Amino acid sequence: MIVDLHNHTPLCNHAEGELFEYIEEAIKAGTKIFGFSDHAPMDFDPKYRMDFEQMHKYEEDVKEAKKKYTDKIDILLGYEVDYLPGHMDRRVLDAEVDYLIGSVHFIEGWGFDNPEFIGKYEEQDIDEIWQKYFDTIEDMANSKLFDIVGHLDLIKVFKFMPKGDINAMAKKALVAIKNADMVLELNVAGYRKPVAEAYPSQTLLSQAFDLGIPITFASDAHKPEQVSLFNNEIIALAKSVGYAECAFFRNRTREFISF
Ligand SMILES: [Zn+2]
Ligand SMILES: [Zn+2]
Repeated sequence: MIVDLHNHTPLCNHAEGELFEYIEEAIKAGTKIFGFSDHAPMDFDPKYRMDFEQMHKYEEDVKEAKKKYTDKIDILLGYEVDYLPGHMDRRVLDAEVDYLIGSVHFIEGWGFDNPEFIGKYEEQDIDEIWQKYFDTIEDMANSKLFDIVGHLDLIKVFKFMPKGDINAMAKKALVAIKNADMVLELNVAGYRKPVAEAYPSQTLLSQAFDLGIPITFASDAHKPEQVSLFNNEIIALAKSVGYAECAFFRNRTREFISF
């Protein structure tokens, strides 16, 4: 991936490998701009993220890597932040980083992408779950706290698909994303999950293109060997709906590069 802005580190307690191992993989893959965006600390579900006390170490480690690799690859610093009203913390939102990814991993406190809680899909109408999910994405965009939308249609992770039209369900969320001037990430983690396709789907991506929403690319790597996996598939997906450039951020300011 020419630009790859969503990658984790062991500080989140569910990723493995050293920073330099991720970076070496990215260099091997020909990546020009590689960003770390580990799960930001939060007072909810703390076991899947770093602590507030670890923010400094994380930021310093990434900045040090940036210096060390400066003539080989451009390293950026970000966080993946959970959109969860009442639990978002100024220390994260005001952190001096290149960008913040806003992600929805919880619907009313339910960690819907965690296999531990998969049983909850049977307790509610699947279309209602999907609509609630996209309504939360819409709220996240309207909060205007973030630069990038993480894995737009993560709710499909276990392949529990709705009966209704997904593009119609996501319409208001996409319009809010456009109005918030956010960037959509094309995230390959879905290829590694039961749904076995990228986030977002081609049909949602096409809708985003028609609205003029920019994109970026994301390995969402939790291991060094996941860096740039499915690169060909994701580039082909982007081109298939008409995209020819992707975005990245430096000090929260957007720039573009052709691919
Ligand atoms: Zn993770
Ligand atoms: Zn995520």
